[in-house]
Amino acid sequence: MKMRVLLTSILFLSASVLYAQKHLPGSCATKLADLMSKDKMDTTKPRGMADNYYLWDPGATVSVKFMPGGSQSLRNEVINYAKLWEQYANIKFKFVPDNAAVTNIRVKLTDNDGAWSTIGTQCNDVSQSEHTLNLDTVDFKQRAGAAYWRATVVHEFGHSLGLMHEQSYPGGIKWNLPVVYNYYLNHSDWDSAMIYSQVLKVNDEFYTNGTAYDSKSIMQYWVRKEFTLDGVAIDENLELSNGDKILISALYPKAGTRIMEVPRITVTSPVLKVQQNKLRDGIAIYPTFNLKSNSKLGAVYFIARLVDENNYYIPTTAEKYNLNGYVASYSRAIILPNSNVNYNTTGAKANLELFIPYSYIPLSNDAKVRVEFYMILSDDVNKQYKEVGSRYYTQLFNISK
Ligand SMILES: [Zn+2]
Repeated sequence: MKMRVLLTSILFLSASVLYAQKHLPGSCATKLADLMSKDKMDTTKPRGMADNYYLWDPGATVSVKFMPGGSQSLRNEVINYAKLWEQYANIKFKFVPDNAAVTNIRVKLTDNDGAWSTIGTQCNDVSQSEHTLNLDTVDFKQRAGAAYWRATVVHEFGHSLGLMHEQSYPGGIKWNLPVVYNYYLNHSDWDSAMIYSQVLKVNDEFYTNGTAYDSKSIMQYWVRKEFTLDGVAIDENLELSNGDKILISALYPKAGTRIMEVPRITVTSPVLKVQQNKLRDGIAIYPTFNLKSNSKLGAVYFIARLVDENNYYIPTTAEKYNLNGYVASYSRAIILPNSNVNYNTTGAKANLELFIPYSYIPLSNDAKVRVEFYMILSDDVNKQYKEVGSRYYTQLFNISK
């Protein structure tokens, strides 16, 4: 399959973005009584879905600023609603002036583009000139009303703390797929792929953090009874559920340690140096960057892949220098707990090289290519693989065999 790189949206290639759902007047209210009786049967275990690899450190201060726009009273509402999480989570949202040069989270109050947020620490991979959290105040406040507006802001800041949609809980909802697709195709500007990723995607059991499904979570979309095969409907959840409070305080504990800590790493944006080595008959790639890890043992794959001048990966059938059918080179490194490693520091001996022999590049001499570099964290204990950082690209250069 021919696979194209979207260089125009490099920053969004790896960072996942999740939306809030638009308000629908009068939806699902009839099923509320059924749900409440069900809720009583739930266990008291913490529940919910979180991406543990993109959680902030417990006790972290996360800086937030507003992009230009939004009245002071709207901004004050956002600040107050975001800070609801601080009652239960050992985390601090520090709202800083608009002219702050560097922040973790950037909020845009606008009249379009829905309500969405980048997940947890993936915010750090978004350019400082872009926002990480969008709030359409026309759709989600003026039209939907104060209660839904408040719930939407809380929901989006839940994503910014690493929470995922509760409907992604494995087996949580028995969807009637044609009805769901048909509804969203007609009532939103989402295509099938977006409907899948925002509504229908089911995450690995691992991300439940050992919890039960929580239909009352503020991270759960409302669901019409027509959407499900068993006729179960879910009303709009306007408040943090007990499950939300228990989960967020287990992920960001005010005392003791986090449940299910996993290896987490942070990387700086690399500078990529490419050397065409006639003696060794190939291309050597040297990324320069810093990597820090938390207290868990992990491993990282460093991957360099070639991209042609039309932004397509280069197909190969060779046994080596082949990653999923495309010309690439990769290297795996064990990352010890609490590491702080500089790769390819100027003046020091190179400690990370990715090499691709010319004989494995099925292109003519003088063909124009660029190198794509990215990293995948490997949590061998839990058998999870997560892309970290962004994807980085060199300028085009000519292959000179
Ligand atoms: Zn959402």
